[in-house]
Parts: sequence; structure tokens; C-alpha cells
Amino acid sequence: MNSGEATWSSDQSLVLTRKGFTEETYLTWSYSPTLVETGSVGGVFTAVIETTERVLGERRLSTLRALSEQVGEAKDSHVACAAAAATLSQNAADVPFALVYLLEGDSDRAILVGNAGLLPDASGAPAVIAVNDLDATWPLGTALIHEADGVITTEGSRALPITAGPWPECCDRAVILPIARAGQTRPYGMLIAGISPRLEFNHSYRSFLSLVASHIASAVANAHAYGEERRRAEALAEIDRTKTTFFSNVSHEFRTPLTLILGPLSDARRSPETLPPEVRDHLDVAHRNSLRLLKLVNTLLDFTRLEAGRAHARFERVDLCALTTDLASTFRSTMEKAGLAFSVQCEPMSGPTYVDPEMWEKIVLNLISNAFKFTLQGDVTVSVSVEDARAVIAVEDTGTGIPEDQLPHIFERFHRVQGTTGRSHEGSGIGLALVQELVKLHGGELTATSELGRGSRFAVSIPLGSAHLSPAHIVSESSVAVPSGATPYVEEALRWLPAAATTADDAIASLSSGVTAHEPPVGVGRVLLADDNADMRDYARRLMAERWDVQAVTNGREALDAARAQRPDVIVTDVMMPELDGFGLLREIRADPELNSVPVIMLSARAGEEARLEGLAATADDYVVKPFSARDLLARVDAQVVKARLRAVELHHARRVANLFSNAPVAIAVLRGRDTCSSPMRITSL
Ligand code: ADP
Repeated sequence: MNSGEATWSSDQSLVLTRKGFTEETYLTWSYSPTLVETGSVGGVFTAVIETTERVLGERRLSTLRALSEQVGEAKDSHVACAAAAATLSQNAADVPFALVYLLEGDSDRAILVGNAGLLPDASGAPAVIAVNDLDATWPLGTALIHEADGVITTEGSRALPITAGPWPECCDRAVILPIARAGQTRPYGMLIAGISPRLEFNHSYRSFLSLVASHIASAVANAHAYGEERRRAEALAEIDRTKTTFFSNVSHEFRTPLTLILGPLSDARRSPETLPPEVRDHLDVAHRNSLRLLKLVNTLLDFTRLEAGRAHARFERVDLCALTTDLASTFRSTMEKAGLAFSVQCEPMSGPTYVDPEMWEKIVLNLISNAFKFTLQGDVTVSVSVEDARAVIAVEDTGTGIPEDQLPHIFERFHRVQGTTGRSHEGSGIGLALVQELVKLHGGELTATSELGRGSRFAVSIPLGSAHLSPAHIVSESSVAVPSGATPYVEEALRWLPAAATTADDAIASLSSGVTAHEPPVGVGRVLLADDNADMRDYARRLMAERWDVQAVTNGREALDAARAQRPDVIVTDVMMPELDGFGLLREIRADPELNSVPVIMLSARAGEEARLEGLAATADDYVVKPFSARDLLARVDAQVVKARLRAVELHHARRVANLFSNAPVAIAVLRGRDTCSSPMRITSL
């Protein structure tokens, strides 16, 4: 009227009584000046548009959005329902009150898990409702049977009318909706939602509340799925733990009999000329397969240790080129015998490289052995290079290749490509899985590219330097030696060649020469042997009895008694024994002033590094892992016998010096220690 300008008011709330009840409505008003003949404003035209549907629609949409944001990720169904109720309480105009009940298991009990708009102890919000109880506050049973989305009025429920919501009027209607479980007739529970006394319960109101119920249902389903997933993960972890224990135990059980098979077999095969040819052949077959079994047991053990996080790498600074070339060269003659061109190319490293040499050996040998196995003709190339501050070791072949759809699976444990042509069908599908775990431990990556019929390329890349490694796992002194674990790989590979047997023996002989090239000298000494396995005890006793005076006992307790009765030069003991185990025996020996200097060699089937450390940390003098070769055991015992005798001589010298002083109170002694031993008691002047 004053300015002559049109104006408006949007979505004004207005309470109207037009359909027989007081209604919450929204209107948009526009005011347009109406001019009279003089040109001045003579009146105002007011148009009113009803916007109730839109305003309510937007309000409900924002509630639904908040619901999906706030309850969707809940990891527990009760938490999800409580969060849903909290969200609904923000929109009391549409949902004056809401109760969320979840059914307990298969029972007829419904538990209140969410309450919006009512006091916790309100009579309309019982904590538990028996679904089948006809007198229950809320008729959940009827709702359950009829999948009710019908409206409950004061006749249908004792709880109504209820004072709730923003209006002075009570709620005398509510709706019970199932919180539906997909694919099942029995829902997770029920949503009881009050209906606003100032709104018409029309189609859009009903579908809004249905959507609220389905949001809650999907949140509960998610929470259930999460719970299931967690339970499954826990069950899997439990299976995994059991499996690891099983593998460790089984490996122990395997290794002792394997020692007893491999030892006598190796002994028997040492003089082949004394055996009839067919017996020799049988022995060769038995020997080869025992080695194969041993390799498998070792790989499984490595794998379980890695999986259980018990494999601790000892990273050393190495000349990666030299180390990899040395490892690769163990395969050279095998490759040549098979008619494959084998080349090893090395690019100098631009920075220091750190690897665990033992693990590196397994990585390289597994990849080369696979290349050999799956390449019938052409060539195998091993290359060491530097790319983007990473050392890359690639093993490339011109072999059968891997089908594209199989490539993503080849690193899975026990996965093998069906129908591949290789030199052998042997294999357990664990090699690449092991390689991948070992590479990961080095902070590296293992990749494979392949083309069917043309060949494959496996590349390991590890960062240069040591910044990516935990300092606790880096050792400063280098112990890199000639590759020691190549024999089983090469031996296995040789068996895949047509004329396997004899060549394999030659190659193995050449590989293992140098390790135990000379027989230990025959000595005099007393060895006390403790092992509970009768076969093992007899075998080890027989081996050692050729050189020393051996007393064999069946457990640590007997060993201790025997040692106290007559001091041995060396004690050789198994780790796992009844009564008193190897570690217990070692402790007792070290605590005994008469015996604490007796060298103790532990014999164990637990090949793991951790077992070795445990042995040495417990101050064992040496540690022999089963299965051991006869020569290895003899060499080690011999070394300890010699050491023990030297110690005895030193002790003798020391006693003589002590006697001298006690007999001559004033004296000058100039003694020269024996050249063969560095006596701590050598005295040059006094
Ligand atoms: P295994 O050799 O004992 O079966 P691995 O884990 O070493 O187990 O290899 C898994 C599978 O990947 C093999 O069975 C083979 O099908 C495929 N594979 C591995 N290396 C090669 C390769 N160089 N060429 C072709 N196929 C390969």
C-alpha cells in the first residue's frame, strides 16, 4: 500500500481447521498493489498458495537423509536403532514419538532399543514386550502376523493417547511398522511411530514412515552383516591359529622320521657298489622323495611362520648383484642340461641394498625353479637392475605362459593353473605365495606379466637403502655366505629332466662338497646323548659310537643324573623330551658348578630361526636341526669334543699355577701357555 511494490511471504505456518481437525499447514502469500484511476495504490491483491505438501516433503526428506547418514554405518544393531531414534526426535512434528523394538533371537520377546519423544520410564514405552501377549501395551503380535502398517488407535492400544510432540493435543494414533528382514517373514523388530494430531495420515505420510522403517531395517542388516563378518573373521583367525600350531607340531613329527629315513638312506647310498642295482634304484627313489617331502615341510613351515608373524627378517647390507648371481648360478648346469639358454645380467646398484639373505635365497630360487619348470625350450634370463630408486630382480622365461584370467590368482596359496604344460605336474601351489610374503617383508612388490605360449616375467622390486626397514631388524655385520639352501631346489629341478637320477646325484654331490668335505678326525671322548625317540637315539648313538664313547639316555632327567655320575665331554640333547626337556637340561647343566663348562648341542626338529635363537639364547653351544646328515652331526660333535678337551687342558694348567703359588709363598713365575690354546692363566711376570 505504501510503496506500490509487490511483496510476498513464503511458507508461512498457519493452523487451519478445515477438514474436521486442527491442521498444520503452510501457505505462501503474495501481495500485489492494485492501482486506481489516479495512479495511486487503491488496494492490494493477495494470492495465497498452499505449500504444505512441499514443506512437509522437504522436512521428511531431510529426516531421511539424516537417518541414512547417522545410522547407516553403525556396527551394532542396538546402537543403530538408538541412533535412529535420536535422529527421529529432531522431527517431532512428523514423528511425535517413536519406539524401536528388536525381537530377541527366536523368542517372542521384543526389546526396546530406541525411544524418541517419550520419557525412558513412560508407561507407553515398556522395556520388553511379549509379542504373543494379547494384553501388551502395544499389539506387536497382531502387527507381526498381519505385517501391520495399519494405524493403531486408542482402541488398539492401552498406551494411547500419549502426550508427545510439539502440539498441545495428545497423540491418539500410531502406526506399527515391521523392521523387515530381507527374504524372511520374521522381521528384525517393530517401529512404533506416533502420528501427529495435526496432520492428515495420507499416502505421503505413510510412505515417509515406511521409508523410516526401511532405513532402520537396512542399518540393522548392515550391523548384522558386520557382526557376522567379525564373527567369521574371528573364526578364521582361530582356525588360522590352530592351523599354525598344527603345522608347527606336524613339522616336528615329520622331521624326526625324515631324519631317520634320510640318514640311513644317505649312508646306504654312499657305497653304491656294494648294493644290487635294483636295491640302489629303490633307495634312490626313496631318497629323492624324502628330500621332496622335506622341502615341502620346510616351505609349509616357512609359510606358517610368515603368516603367524613369527618370521623375523635379519636385513643385511648385501651386494645384491653378487648374491643373486651366486644363487642363479646354482641352476646353470641344470638349465644347460635341459638345453635352455640361461643368462644372468647385472647392473651395478646406485645405492646400498638390504635383504635377508636366507629369504632372498628362497625368493630367487623359487622364481628360477618355476621358470625352469614351465619352460621347455628357449631361454631363462635373470636380471638385476635399478628403476626409480628400487632394485628390480626379474626372472623372465620363454615358457608356457599363464592365461590372463589366472594371473590374478597365481599368488594365492595352493592355487595352481590347470592344464599347464610343464616339466612336471609336481607342485603344491605354495611357492609363489611364499615368495610374495617374503617380498612384502622386504617392503617390496612382486609382479607377474605373462603371455600364453610366449613366456612369463616375474619381477621383484625392493626399495634401495634401509629407510623403509625397521632398524631393529637390520644387522650390521654381514654373514652372507655361499648359498646353502639351493640343493633341494636344484635337486628337484634335476628330477624333472629325463635322465634324472644319476645326474641329480652328481649335481648334489658337487653342491654339497665343501660344506662337509672332510671327515672329522676320530677322537677320544665321552658323549652323553639324550633323546626320547628310540630310533633316533639308536641312530645317533650308532653314528657317534664309531668315534666316541657314547652313553644314551631317554630324557633330560636321566641325562643330568648320568652327567653328575660321570662328567661327559659333550652333551647332545633333543629339545622336546618328557620329564625334563632340552632347555631344562641346559639350565640345570649351566647352574651346576661341576658341569657348567660342558658343551651342549641341541638337536631339534623345529627348524625356525626363532627356535635356533631360543636354543642359543639358552646358552647351547651348537644347534643341529633335524633332519641332519651324519657328517654334519659328527663334525659338530667333534668340534665340541675338541673344544672340551682344550678347556680341560687349560683347567689343568690353571690348577698347576695355583699349586705353585700355594707351595711357594714367595716366587716369580714365568710360564708360557701351550701354543695350541690361549690360556687365560698365562702369566709372563709376577
Ligand atoms: P607350484 O609351482 O608348486 O605349483 P607356485 O606357487 O610356485 O606353485 O606357482 C603357482 C602356479 O603358477 C603354477 O602351478 C603355475 O601354473 C604358475 N606359474 C608359476 N610360475 C610360472 C612360470 N614361470 N611360467 C608359467 N606358469 C607359472
